Amino acid sequence: MITLQRVAKAAGKHLTRMVLRARKAMGARANRGCPACGRTVVGFFRYGDNAEWGCPECGASPRERLMNWLIDEGRLRMPVDGAVLHMAPNEGSLVRRFSAARDYVPADLDPSRYPVPGVRRVDLMELAEEGRYDLFYASHVLEHVPDDRAVLRNILRALRPGGEAWLIVPLWDRPTEDGSFAMPPRERERRFGQWDHVRQYGPDLADRIRAAGFDLEEIDASSIDPDVAHFYALGDRLFRARKPS
Ligand SMILES: [Zn+2]
Repeated sequence: MITLQRVAKAAGKHLTRMVLRARKAMGARANRGCPACGRTVVGFFRYGDNAEWGCPECGASPRERLMNWLIDEGRLRMPVDGAVLHMAPNEGSLVRRFSAARDYVPADLDPSRYPVPGVRRVDLMELAEEGRYDLFYASHVLEHVPDDRAVLRNILRALRPGGEAWLIVPLWDRPTEDGSFAMPPRERERRFGQWDHVRQYGPDLADRIRAAGFDLEEIDASSIDPDVAHFYALGDRLFRARKPS
């Protein structure tokens, strides 16, 4: 379902991206950087309310840049010798990094949406693997699943002891509001920002993650050195959930 609002947002995104690339080509000072593609940029393009959303070179979002920065800094460790389940693998820089793992599994409920080699169908509601993965990554996925508490338990089971789930969701600062697929799509779009979202998360997602049995560390971009966060235009919050050993 495509609404006028989303078309306008997408058009604005392409326009500001073109302007930024033209400015760089004309010699504007590129004094910002993108940790997803490693290039210098003159700024980031707008998307919706976020004036510094995308990298004009590679398109990386604030959350994609945050993940790359945390990995580069060594604050997150890539399990190169391990197994990685990468849901909704649409962030190219992370596909490149995660696919270096010995056992890389890119997956989605609808794998046809992702031009990633070997992408397979995984329904998180049905995920029944046990103790296989060292890392589970899902950015903007949990707000799509019918029962996130069940999915969090499935993720916990699928991880090896000590394995980690790196979770990012759209957040507001109010408590989480749950919906369902029984609601009309238009109502989901109005309440949760997108027709295929069934809830809007607040900071209390942390409670749901802990209730599933994880240890949790939250890494919010606002806790990073402001000069660094500004340079890379980092944003978003990572819920770093660890399966106890
Ligand atoms: Zn980039």
